Amino acid sequence: MRQTADFILVHAHELVTCKGPASGTAGAEVLNQLETIADGAVAVVGGNIVAVGSSEQVLAQWESRQCIDARGRLVSPGLVDPHSHLLFSGNRYAEYESRVTGQAPVGIEGGIHFSVSRTRSASDAELVEQARTDLDVMLAHGTTTLEAKTGYGLDAQAELRLLRLTAGLQHAIEIVPTFLALHVPPPPQEKSRGDFIAEMLAALPEAAVYAEYCDVTADPIGFTVDECLSVGARARELGMGIRVHADQTGDGGGALVACQLQAAGADHLDYTSEAGFRSMAEAGTVATLLPSVTYHMCEMTPRIHKGSLGAADKPFMPLLARRAVDAGGVVALSTDYNPGTSPTPSMQAVMQLAARLFRLSYAEIWHMCTLNAAASLNRGHDRGSIEVGKRADLLLWKVATHGMAINRFGYNMVDRVWVEGRAAATVPA
Ligand SMILES: [Zn+2]
Repeated sequence: MRQTADFILVHAHELVTCKGPASGTAGAEVLNQLETIADGAVAVVGGNIVAVGSSEQVLAQWESRQCIDARGRLVSPGLVDPHSHLLFSGNRYAEYESRVTGQAPVGIEGGIHFSVSRTRSASDAELVEQARTDLDVMLAHGTTTLEAKTGYGLDAQAELRLLRLTAGLQHAIEIVPTFLALHVPPPPQEKSRGDFIAEMLAALPEAAVYAEYCDVTADPIGFTVDECLSVGARARELGMGIRVHADQTGDGGGALVACQLQAAGADHLDYTSEAGFRSMAEAGTVATLLPSVTYHMCEMTPRIHKGSLGAADKPFMPLLARRAVDAGGVVALSTDYNPGTSPTPSMQAVMQLAARLFRLSYAEIWHMCTLNAAASLNRGHDRGSIEVGKRADLLLWKVATHGMAINRFGYNMVDRVWVEGRAAATVPA
């Protein structure tokens, strides 16, 4: 007697499970082992996965009125994006052209303070409307869980407003709100660093009501180790988890801050040392790499200055990515979606860039965009892989294999999305 499922995805050309421990998959050898099932099937009841295996195995135990034929297609877990700045206003495309061409911008406002002034003057309704539009795109491209941080308020009240709006968003994507207390220092004519930090410390009790995490930026253009530790320690006392923008423009002690605060995640890490990665691995901090930033900022190609080619802005990032993996800790990937340095909402684009720019293997990339990203949000126990008992966050792809989803690029290859078993998006062909 077979049991009845709400629905079964059957006869997938390939089903990739991304299976691993709830704390994430670590170490080069294990990361390169990716479980795939030919002619795969997955059965769902009440939003959870109840069976996974070959179609023959699953159909021997389960039946359903809704058997969805995945012939010729890839089935995977939903993608998890562990770093985004979802709420902002004002586009930055104009200043970007000057970076690409090397021409000095004329009459163009830009930079983070431009985003801040536009965001501050936008209405709640405008910010929410734009966020919803972005979330729809993310979902259609396969993101089913998203970390969303503030950061374009840059004073306590403006950051708290963004946080309340983020926490109030209703969408098929599950949103994990983060209060970015320390993003960049305010302009000195506006406020001293000491006043700014005091203001953020005072805002933390209210932030703790709405946010799961508090984020601090330990970077030469951000805040010092001591400033990050003072805010982070208070956030921990209030029960918040910690995330760190670490070492993006130089070694700013980001790894040290992450370890001392037992951060769930430290992101960017472009200048983090081998010892830094090793100590993060020991502390259980997930290292999150952001290839779409490297790509968008043209950091691995020579900069154009006054018509001639200069040097690249960044070290060779494949070596950095290898350093992160070889340190033995959990490594994840993310969009860092934001208007200035990474205006892509698509985790598919990140997967494709991670291969091309960071020279990661297909298997590594799949683990890093699913279970490992979920682990960095403390959600590795209930999502990030196709395993019995986990949430049915599932993707049906237009392509047949996990490798094709990375080898091809530049268009949306996700066909259908389920979040907790509910059909969430049908993407027009
Ligand atoms: Zn960021």
